[in-house]
Amino acid sequence: MSEKEKLLEEVKKETLEADLPLKKEATNLVFGKGKADAPILFVGEAPGRNEDLQGLPFVGAAGKNLDKLLHDVGLSLDDVYIANILKYRPPENRGPLPDEIKTHTPYLIKQIKAIRPNVICSLGNYATKFFLAGMDVDKMDKQEGITKLHGKIREIEFDGMKIKLIPLFHPAAIIYNRSLIAEWEKDLEIVKKEIRK
Ligand code: URA
Repeated sequence: MSEKEKLLEEVKKETLEADLPLKKEATNLVFGKGKADAPILFVGEAPGRNEDLQGLPFVGAAGKNLDKLLHDVGLSLDDVYIANILKYRPPENRGPLPDEIKTHTPYLIKQIKAIRPNVICSLGNYATKFFLAGMDVDKMDKQEGITKLHGKIREIEFDGMKIKLIPLFHPAAIIYNRSLIAEWEKDLEIVKKEIRK
C-alpha cells in the first residue's frame, strides 16, 4: 500500500466513525474511489440511491455517463480519484444543506491533503462554489454558477499546495444535452493539458 493509500484509509476510518448528519438515514458511507496517487481529483455533489447502496460514488446513471465521458477523452479510474461534497445520501436526493456541507467537508479536505492532486475538477454548482468560496460554506451563495465558470482555470492554495481548479458541468446535468457534452469535451481537453504539464 502506498503512503497516500494508507493516509486515505485512515481518513476513511475517521469519516466512518464521525457522527455526521444523514448517517442514520443512509445505508453506506460513500467515501471515494479511484487512484490515491492520481493527479486529478473529481469532486461531485452527493451520493444518490445507487451510490448509497453500493458505498461508492458515481455508480448510477450520472456515474455511467462520467465513465463514458472520461473514456471518450482517454481517461479512466486509473488516472483519477472521485469523491463528493457529502459523504452520505440526502433523502430523496435533495440538494445538500449548508450545515451538512459544513460538517461533511472537513473529511473532503482531509482527502485532498492525502491525495495532494495537481488538478481538482469540481462537478456542478455545489463543488464549484465550495472551492471558489475558499471552502467557506457561508460564502458559497455569493459565487458565480457553473454555466459561467466551466472550463475556466483558477488556482487555489491551501495547506502549502497550489492546485488548479477546473469547474465542469455535472455529468448528470449533461446526459441528454448534446451541446453541453461538446462543451464538456472542450473543457476536458483543458484538464488533460494541465495534467500533462
Ligand atoms: N452525483 C454526484 O454528485 N455524486 C455521486 O456520487 C453520484 C451522483
